[in-house]
Amino acid sequence: MDLFEYQARDLFAKHGVPVLAGEVIDTPEAAREITERLGGKSVVKAQVKVGGRGKAGGVKLAASADEAVARATDILGMDIKGHTVHKVMIAETAPEIVEEYYVSFLLDRSNRTFLSIASVEGGMEIEEVAATRPEAVAKIAIDAIEGVDKAKAEEIVAAAKFPAEVADQVADVLVKLWEVFVKEDALLVEVNPLAKVASGAVLALDGKVSLDENAEFRHPDFAELHDRAAANPLEAAAKAKGLNYVKLDGEVGIIGNGAGLVMSTLDVVAYAGEKHGNVKPANFLDIGGGASAEVMANGLEIILGDPDVKSVFVNVFGGITACDEVANGIVQALALLASKGEEVTKPLVVRLDGNNAELGRKILSDANHPLVQRVDTMDGAADKAAELAAK
Ligand code: GDP
Ligand code: MN
Repeated sequence: MDLFEYQARDLFAKHGVPVLAGEVIDTPEAAREITERLGGKSVVKAQVKVGGRGKAGGVKLAASADEAVARATDILGMDIKGHTVHKVMIAETAPEIVEEYYVSFLLDRSNRTFLSIASVEGGMEIEEVAATRPEAVAKIAIDAIEGVDKAKAEEIVAAAKFPAEVADQVADVLVKLWEVFVKEDALLVEVNPLAKVASGAVLALDGKVSLDENAEFRHPDFAELHDRAAANPLEAAAKAKGLNYVKLDGEVGIIGNGAGLVMSTLDVVAYAGEKHGNVKPANFLDIGGGASAEVMANGLEIILGDPDVKSVFVNVFGGITACDEVANGIVQALALLASKGEEVTKPLVVRLDGNNAELGRKILSDANHPLVQRVDTMDGAADKAAELAAK
């Protein structure tokens, strides 16, 4: 989960990384009072989850409260690389910036380790620096157990050739930033620029943090960090029901048990769809192992609630949960939806195979639901679902 700059800034502050004061607003006029409180000057910064805001005109200095309102008016609603600006941060202006550095920690999957990246040539051109002069960017692996203590931080500072007068401050920032990384279960923490200002102080002027959603159970406060405005309503509803659901842009709703089976179902449906006006899967939904009637009903409810869905393919390979239980689940789920007054009008193609397949198929046939069709092979069922979606 990527955070907005202001959320990253809050986490930095919590762990003692030096940052400047700021507040987030969504109407231009609100910039006035904050700027007055900050002493009549501020920086107006677009809050979008994409880099390069500065170059795109999304970071502007304001020398007065009026100017802050004007800049906030310009920036709110702006499009930055496809991201609409809904919020701006009105931040304290840094005293004159003398140098801009770059520091980050991230999970380096390919090397199965953590990595620190640091450069004394930070700022808006860091990608250019990294591409053309890799020697100006120090990369030091970090042991997961040892982490970043003062000595490790000094090693990074030396490798990146930070000037002596900021070495201690930068090392201190690195230790605290590592604390953010570990305590907040981040996959990335990045500061660019880490600025040296005229007084000689070092400040984190911009922050990027990506949190590991797998650790959400340890952080009840992560819930507040989700960007509700950007969330897909179906995905949000599925999440609330504890379903593994991803919205896609096709027409064939997909339900399966097991992530691998669902992934291959997406492929098979996309392939079959080529013969039927190029219809495609409308979603990924894995209802997992013990697919009770309730889980099946929840899954069907989400998928049938998607206006893009024209047909549904239920693809189940019976394992620990046998096909007869799944078939009963489907029949009960349809009854459950009907009892809730949710009229089911879209055709369902069901393929059951594996443990107790015969019994499961018989249960479906006996139920004789007008919208349910049984097709016993995966390819055949995918073809039928695609054909129905194309109608
Ligand atoms: P990014 O372009 O999305 O990375 O946005 P940043 O927050 O890094 O801002 C871009 C540039 O604006 C920085 O590299 C700084 O040079 C400048 N900047 C950001 N905050 C301040 C500030 O408080 N005061 C001044 N003078 N410049 C700032
Ligand atoms: Mn930046």
